[in-house]
Amino acid sequence: MVTPPTDSHHTLLLDSTVAPKFPHRVRFTRGAFDAANPALRNLFAADEAIATRRAVVLIDDGVARAHGDALETKLRAYFAAHATSMPVIAEICVVPGGEAVKQDTRLCDLVVELVEKHRICRKSFVIAIGGGAMLDAVGFGSAIAHRGVRLVRLPTTVLAQDDAAMGVKNGINRFGKKNFVGAFAVPFAVLCDELLLETLPDAVFRAGFSEAVKIALLKDPAFFAEIEQNAERIAARNLDAASPVIRRSAELHLRHIADGGDPFESNAARPLDFGHWAAHRLESMSDYAISHGDAVALGLLLDCRYSNLMNSKAEGWLSDADYARICACIKRLGLPTHHPLFADQDALLRGLDEFREHLGGTLTITMLRGIGRGVEIHELDTTLVRAAATELA
Ligand code: NAD
Repeated sequence: MVTPPTDSHHTLLLDSTVAPKFPHRVRFTRGAFDAANPALRNLFAADEAIATRRAVVLIDDGVARAHGDALETKLRAYFAAHATSMPVIAEICVVPGGEAVKQDTRLCDLVVELVEKHRICRKSFVIAIGGGAMLDAVGFGSAIAHRGVRLVRLPTTVLAQDDAAMGVKNGINRFGKKNFVGAFAVPFAVLCDELLLETLPDAVFRAGFSEAVKIALLKDPAFFAEIEQNAERIAARNLDAASPVIRRSAELHLRHIADGGDPFESNAARPLDFGHWAAHRLESMSDYAISHGDAVALGLLLDCRYSNLMNSKAEGWLSDADYARICACIKRLGLPTHHPLFADQDALLRGLDEFREHLGGTLTITMLRGIGRGVEIHELDTTLVRAAATELA
């Protein structure tokens, strides 16, 4: 045995790099609970002992209300029809959905209690069917019970399908701050059923496209043009127009997380948070009356206008024409373009301090030099932020 060297203080260095790899299974389908559709069953195909595993299923009450008893009946029939290749349902629980479930620990606690009650082991499952907020709270409970049980997400809003469910994190709000408490945890699998989007209220349906606009502005000008061209049809809930946008947005988010080299956000740069420093602050300032999707639309506009106003100081920032395109696209998607809370700029700017603290002390914010051309900056001219916010109030 070779003894590692120590110094005169007998300090022993055993520094290592821990580099686990996680599969991230993501699928889109239509009619996930139709007995003939194998997509849900196939998620479990690699587990030879699957029929001995157990699952607790949690359903967002927004989904449950919209579908009535039919959803639970279909779900039970699906599990029964595929009993040899699926876990056994231990319990199905309808739980509250919406941002309110991230405001305290009750839903997380319930998940932990259900895991204990039904003896859900680390190879058994929590299956969560719901919007991004419910998925975040249930995900946190699943991540801390047994230090992580397997989580299957079935996202039921546009925002959850085109962004939130792709994430490898979860969280709840505390101290008036978004996602202050949470964990990084890669889900066992994600299955997006686009037919579940049919029951969404119009405002919730539309709100989810702000995240698609965000990722298009960051990474893919052709994708932005596609959203632009189809904005009215998307706002009118035409699934032929909406589905490719939801799928492409999910794919771009996923590629960034899987291939971007920083899945657990150790670096200062956080491009997927483009527009989010103000979005999170507006949500909190409104006591969460502004939905996350609407807040992201507003936060994007603020940072786009800032990027455009930067032309007064130096060349090469977002052009007037591109800023006008972005405003028009967001408007045609039926998303908000103004909000009175932008007038409270002292409160808004505290969001920058919170974001700086969250990042680890050094501010790194993404702005735009053009559509599809993000740039990281480390200082913001607060005069320009205030000027941009005044226009959006
Ligand atoms: P949401 O979860 O708040 O849902 C909005 C409303 O829709 C709720 O009342 C819910 O009950 C209802 N609902 C859900 N599905 C329904 C359906 N099919 N039919 C009828 N009603 C339905 O909103 P959201 O936009 O899905 O999620 C926003 C949350 O996602 C925020 O908390 C945000 O922070 C989080 N998020 C997380 C990540 C991540 O990586 N973990 C990424 C982006 C956003």
